[in-house]
Amino acid sequence: MTATHLGHPILHFLNTVCDDGKQRHKNSFRDAGALHHVLVGAGLIEATQPVPDRGQVQSLLLLREAAYAVLSAVAAAQTPDREEALMLETAIKAAVQDARLQFTAGRFGVSAGPLGGIHDQLALSLLDLLRADDLGRLRECQRCTHLFIDNGRGPGRRWCAMSRCGNRAKAATFRQRRRATSP
Ligand SMILES: [Zn+2]
Repeated sequence: MTATHLGHPILHFLNTVCDDGKQRHKNSFRDAGALHHVLVGAGLIEATQPVPDRGQVQSLLLLREAAYAVLSAVAAAQTPDREEALMLETAIKAAVQDARLQFTAGRFGVSAGPLGGIHDQLALSLLDLLRADDLGRLRECQRCTHLFIDNGRGPGRRWCAMSRCGNRAKAATFRQRRRATSP
């Protein structure tokens, strides 16, 4: 998995569920070490950062689900639920409160403070996505809950990935059609 095909690194964190439908019950990682590996691979954290403990993983998943609820609504051009929007707002505010602002060589950057850890880094990355110019191109897969930025032209991308959902959705349509036309 590359860090770019989804359009923003934080989407790799939001898409760490592997359910086939619209439920989000199954994590795509089997333990905290595997989640850490995903976050490093997406460029969201440094490999040297400690693997989150059980409690930290729980709070990361709360952040993930609040962010998913908000971004799923954004992708559908709807207003998110107040409760989840408030959870996300609280997480982002806390991360910004402790963040370090870096002014180096004509560039400006925001990084998580020393105490916030992975949770704050992910909250800041969510803020970055929410402020991105292409947020309006955020889409949700028609089959699962994976989110992506659709940078294509034409009618628009419907599935997170052809290999994961596109082929299976097409196969299901094909079966339905065949059933409908067979005597
Ligand atoms: Zn999908």
